Amino acid sequence: MELSRYSVIEDKNPREIVLLRGRGCAWKRCRFCDYHLDASQDEEANLILNREALSHVTGRYGRLEVINSGSFAELHPSTLAEVDRVCQERGIRDLHVESHWLFRKTIPALREHFAKLGVTLHVKIGVETFDADYRERILDKGIDETDPAAIAAPFDECCLLFGLSGQSVEGMKRDVETGLAHFHRVCINVMVPNTTPILPDLEVRAAFVREVYPLYKDNPRVDILLENTDFGVGEKL
Ligand code: SF4
Repeated sequence: MELSRYSVIEDKNPREIVLLRGRGCAWKRCRFCDYHLDASQDEEANLILNREALSHVTGRYGRLEVINSGSFAELHPSTLAEVDRVCQERGIRDLHVESHWLFRKTIPALREHFAKLGVTLHVKIGVETFDADYRERILDKGIDETDPAAIAAPFDECCLLFGLSGQSVEGMKRDVETGLAHFHRVCINVMVPNTTPILPDLEVRAAFVREVYPLYKDNPRVDILLENTDFGVGEKL
C-alpha cells in the first residue's frame, strides 16, 4: 500500500502533518482499525522513511502534527530525535501527537521534554465514543475508565468515530458535546470501508452528514474527516 506521508492542513488550526512509521501499535485490538498495519521492526528503514517525510516540513505555520500507527511514545528514539531537530530547525512552536490510553503515563515527561525546546505538546487520544459499554464491548478500545473527565485529564484532544451500526444522532451529538466540554479540540472520523470486518453503516453515516455535521462544520475546535484521507496523509487515492 502506498501512503502519502506529508501534507498541509490549510483550514482549521492550520498545520503541517506527517505520517511516520514505527514498530507498530502495542494495542492492535481496536476492531475497526487496520491502521496498525503500517509498521516495521526495521528501525533503520523506519528512520529513512521518517526522515524523508519530515524533510518536507517548512514550519510555515509553526505548528506540526505527527501521527504514526499507534502512539507517539512508540516511535524509536532515533525518529524522536529527528522530530526534535525538525521542530528546532523549522521553528515549530506547537506539536500535535497521538497516544493510546496505555501510554498516558509517558505524556508528562514528553511535555517537559518539548517544553525545554520551546514547543507546546498537544496530545490526542482516540476515544471514539464516550459510551463506555459500546466502546469496550463492540470496539475493544482498551480504555478502562468510564468518566470523560478522567479520560481527558492526561490529554488535550480526542478523536471520535461515527458511522457505525448502533449509533444514533442523539448519541453522536452527545459525544461531540462531551468532547468539547473536556478537551480543547475534537476530531471526528467517519468510518470508511477497510480490511477489517467492521463496515460503515450507511444510514448512520447519512444521519451524521444530515443532522450532526452542519452543527459543527464551522466550529474551529472541531475537525471532521468524512474520508480518512481528508488530512492529506494515508492511503493514496
Ligand atoms: S490504538 Fe490506534 S493504531 Fe492501535 S489498534 Fe487502536 S486505533 Fe489502531
